[in-house]
Amino acid sequence: MTVTTDHALPMILDEVEVTSVELLSPSFVRVELGGAVLADFGVDGPLYDQRIKLVFPNDAGNLPSFEGADDSWWNTWLEIPASERGHMRTYTVRDVRGTGVDTRLVVDLVLHLDDGATGPGAEWAARAAVGDRLITMAPRRGREFGGIEFAPGTATSLLLVADETAVPAVCSILEDLPPDAVGAAFLEVPVRGDVLDVRGPEGVEVFWLPRDGQPLGARVHPAVLAHLGTPVGGPLDEGDDVDPDLWETPTYSSSGEPVENTTVVGHDLDGLYAWIAGESGMVTALRRHLVRELGMDRRQVAFMGYWRRGVAMRS
Ligand SMILES: Cc1cc2nc3c(=O)[nH]c(=O)nc-3n(C[C@H](O)[C@H](O)[C@H](O)COP(=O)(O)OP(=O)(O)OC[C@H]3O[C@@H](n4cnc5c(N)ncnc54)[C@H](O)[C@@H]3O)c2cc1C
Repeated sequence: MTVTTDHALPMILDEVEVTSVELLSPSFVRVELGGAVLADFGVDGPLYDQRIKLVFPNDAGNLPSFEGADDSWWNTWLEIPASERGHMRTYTVRDVRGTGVDTRLVVDLVLHLDDGATGPGAEWAARAAVGDRLITMAPRRGREFGGIEFAPGTATSLLLVADETAVPAVCSILEDLPPDAVGAAFLEVPVRGDVLDVRGPEGVEVFWLPRDGQPLGARVHPAVLAHLGTPVGGPLDEGDDVDPDLWETPTYSSSGEPVENTTVVGHDLDGLYAWIAGESGMVTALRRHLVRELGMDRRQVAFMGYWRRGVAMRS
C-alpha cells in the first residue's frame, strides 16, 4: 500500500521501509527506515531525545492508510477497529543518515526479553527484515513538532539516567552535547552484552549497569543516589503506586502538579540538570528521592516514564 499525504499535516505521517536491520546486542535491534517522504524530515537544532511514533502492522500484516489525513487523523485512526488499525508506539530517533530522498532514520528497538511477555513493537523488532513497511509520524522540516524534552538551559552539570528503552535517547544526547559538557550518565541494561559503544564529551562519565538477572532499577537506583551523595534508599516496593504515564518535566506534569519553580532546600544541587527516563516504576522511585527528599527544583529535572512493566502502551 502506498500512502501519500498532501502536507495537510505539519508533520510527516507516512509509510517508510526498513532498509537495514542490525542486531546490536542481545536486547537491541537497530533498524534504518527509508523512504522519499523522509526528504522532508528535519528538526530545528540537535536531535537530542527527539521522539517519533511508529505504527506497526496489524496481526494480518496490514498497515492503516493515512492518505489525505488532516487534523482529525488521530480520531479517524482510533475509529478503525483495534484489530485493524495496527499498533502505535513511541521511539527515539537514534540518528539520521543520508540526505534528501535517501534520508534514513535510525531507530534502536528493545526486545524486552527479560519481561516474559512482549508487545507488538518488540515482536516486530524481533522479526524485522529489509523491505518491511511501517508508518512513522515524525517532524517535518520547518514545522513545529515538539518531542524533544532534553532542555538543560544553563545547567553546569548533567545527570542522565536511563533503562534500556531510554538508552537510544541518552546515546543521541551524548553525541549532540557540546565538547565541554560535564556530568554523568547511568545506563541500566538487561545484560552485559548490551553495553554499547557510545561517543560523548570527555567530561561526561558513562556508567553501564547490566542487570544480569536482577530486577529493573536494582543497579541504577543505588548508583544514582550514591552519585548524588544521598543515603541509599531502595527502589519501590511491590504495590507502591506507579503512574504508568508518569511525565514530569519543567513544562508538563502528568500528576497535575503546578508547573512552576519550587526552591531547592538543603542540598547544593544548583547547576545540575537531571534527565531521567525508563520504566515508570524505576523513574518514580528516583523521583521520590530527588524531588521529595532532595527538594530538587522541578525546572532542573525531567522524569519520563517511557513504559510500564506489564502494561501495554496505549496507542
Ligand atoms: C519518548 C519515548 C521514547 C522511547 N524511545 C524508545 C526507543 O528508542 N527504543 C525502544 O525500544 N523503546 C522506546 N520507548 C519505549 C517504548 O515506547 C515502549 O517500550 C513500548 O511499550 C514498546 O512497545 P511494545 O509494543 O514492545 O510493548 P507494549 O505492548 O507497549 O508493552 C509494554 C510492556 O508491557 C508488557 N506487556 C505487554 N503485553 C503484555 C501482556 N499481554 N501480558 C503481560 N505483560 C504485557 C511487557 O512487559 C511489555 O514489554 C520510548 C518511549 C517513549 C515514551
